[in-house]
Amino acid sequence: MAIEKTISIIKPDAVAKNVIGEIYSRFEKAGLKIVAAKMKQLSKEDAEGFYAVHKERPFFGDLVAFMTSGPVMIQVLEGENAVLKNRELMGATNPKEAAAGTIRADFAESIDANAVHGSDSLENAAIEIAYFFKPEDVVSR
Ligand code: UDP
Repeated sequence: MAIEKTISIIKPDAVAKNVIGEIYSRFEKAGLKIVAAKMKQLSKEDAEGFYAVHKERPFFGDLVAFMTSGPVMIQVLEGENAVLKNRELMGATNPKEAAAGTIRADFAESIDANAVHGSDSLENAAIEIAYFFKPEDVVSR
């Protein structure tokens, strides 16, 4: 299996709930290493650029408002099959449909305030990592 890197974002709802450590613990127990991390208050431009792929969707304005409503914790995760592994740990977009024991089942409130973001492909992971981190800010472990 390939060693991959992916982006994880702990969204404002989960940061406000003070569960960063609990979510990090799930990554580590699953064998994913944190190789870059920063807390950031996203600007409107940051959020609009990051979610540009969704700009025609009806929920875009609400999504940008939610993502800028408080600080987010952004990390690069590294490990075997990291993209899929992170998506499995997250659970379905709608927490009502998320499997028991997933981050969204345990910490998310609703389909919009859903605790975490994770890259959905290796290609998007590379784009999203570059959106938030300079190459020298991602370590090798
Ligand atoms: N979203 C929303 N309403 C919807 C669908 C999505 O508010 O009906 C938000 C939600 O925060 C989601 C994000 O838009 O996490 C991106 O949607 P996507 O379908 O890419 O889901 P994800 O990859 O985050 O599971």
